[in-house]
Amino acid sequence: MHSIHHYINNEFVSSQGGETFDILTPLTNEVIGKCASGQPGDIDKAARAARSAFDSGVWSKMKVKDRAKKIRTIGDLILKHASTVAELEIEDTGIPRAQITKGAIPRAADNFYFFADQLEALRGDSYTVNDEWLNYVIYRPVGVAGLITPWNTPFMLESWKVAPALASGCTVVLKPAEWSPLSASQMCKIIQEADLPPGVFNCVHGYGESAGAPLVAHPMVNLISFTGETTTGQIIIKNGADTLKRYSMELGGKSPNIVFADVDMERAIDGALWQVYSLNGERCTAASRLLLEETIHDTFVEKLAERVRKIRVGDPNDMATEVGPLIHKEHWERVRGFMDVAREDGATILVGGDNPANLPSPIPHPPSIAKGNYFAPTLITNATNNMRIAQEEVFGPVLTVMKFKDEADAIRQANDIKYGLAGYVWTRDLERAHRVAASLECGMVWVNAQNVRDLRLPFGGSKWSGIGREGGELSFKEFFMEAKSVHVPLKAAHVPRMGG
Ligand code: NAD
Repeated sequence: MHSIHHYINNEFVSSQGGETFDILTPLTNEVIGKCASGQPGDIDKAARAARSAFDSGVWSKMKVKDRAKKIRTIGDLILKHASTVAELEIEDTGIPRAQITKGAIPRAADNFYFFADQLEALRGDSYTVNDEWLNYVIYRPVGVAGLITPWNTPFMLESWKVAPALASGCTVVLKPAEWSPLSASQMCKIIQEADLPPGVFNCVHGYGESAGAPLVAHPMVNLISFTGETTTGQIIIKNGADTLKRYSMELGGKSPNIVFADVDMERAIDGALWQVYSLNGERCTAASRLLLEETIHDTFVEKLAERVRKIRVGDPNDMATEVGPLIHKEHWERVRGFMDVAREDGATILVGGDNPANLPSPIPHPPSIAKGNYFAPTLITNATNNMRIAQEEVFGPVLTVMKFKDEADAIRQANDIKYGLAGYVWTRDLERAHRVAASLECGMVWVNAQNVRDLRLPFGGSKWSGIGREGGELSFKEFFMEAKSVHVPLKAAHVPRMGG
């Protein structure tokens, strides 16, 4: 049984009032431990520790090379403890082992290496005016960063925020998602081993209302980097108004995958499958709306369905498993609920739609599958863009297929949605690929590819998918650091005289 504590001022501590909640595993829905449940008092303690560490300058004024070295050490320790992180992440979230070990964990280490490099490469600009003025820009860390993270690929997403926040010189209070506290706790152990000064990194577990909300409202916290649902983002922005928080908002998505008739169909099918069913479909950039040019629709769907039926659902510990259980029973119910919605709206559930154990012609699966939050990879056809199944984020292994007539129709349907996180385009026509990429109302586009991300590029969403961009220099210059403009005359500059 796991016993998970907060990490405040370099110590693992219980909640001040002793509150805890149960940790469940999605594989069986059994209780596998207890986690400290943070309350406003615990957040206050962590925020004060972070504030005092920031104000002391022990971290923000540490020599850049020393701070970068500490950040790289965290990356090294992630790789050293990769197998422990993997075990915890699998048990806690149900993400298949292959996707954790080959994808999420190395990427988490990379985030630390990358932001250490970025820190050392950080440049300010200078502007000379007629050899009379030298004006320049320096960047300073903003202060105490509140980082609020979701349960999908939690370790990797935590690293995506913790690495740039620490590298910038900010101090941190992390509030991980309540459904996935295990690997976050391992991150605390790793950071403890990296031996950062007390108060630089703190972590308070707990529910959004009791731990997240007081972090957002805390006057000693300067900024909130939030990843989660759009509706939660809206609440957070309201709650942080009184203390004038700076925000980065990485929110929900319902991204289009547009496939034109000229593609290599096998490759486009590979892309369509991976981009929605990997990570159990619980990924913000999932290409969950597949828009097919009408001339290839029927053949494409037939081939796609054949592959969806063969996706290996099962124990996420098994290296061969491709889809594991969903994070929580409540989330499973929500995903399942979308099946009724889709049917009521007139769409067809061509493949999947339930726990594989409940399906009439079940995919081969272990007997234990009925106890866990397993959801068969699901393919929904005969859908139109106005249906809820085409408009709302399901956040599970569910793909909705629609048709389009021509390029203009594809773009119109792709953009006819409140979200705007990612977009995917498959075509061999080079000019069209660039035209469509430029026309999609979203933060990131992939052409003839799945979501492979270069850490130097801006990451974020448009419309209801987010506010701001992180990634590369932007994580520092637009968010965790503040620009300061310094104006220096090179000879006595004119000062208008007052008072005689
Ligand atoms: P969620 O919004 O329910 O929770 C996210 C975090 O916010 C959790 O830590 C939760 O405890 C906390 N929280 C909840 N209420 C709060 C409040 N009032 N004040 C402060 N914190 C609060 O999201 P989730 O269900 O954990 O994650 C899934 C969502 O995250 C999906 O919508 C997905 O698209 C989105 N997501 C977006 C990105 C992106 O980069 N755009 C990446 C991953 C996930």
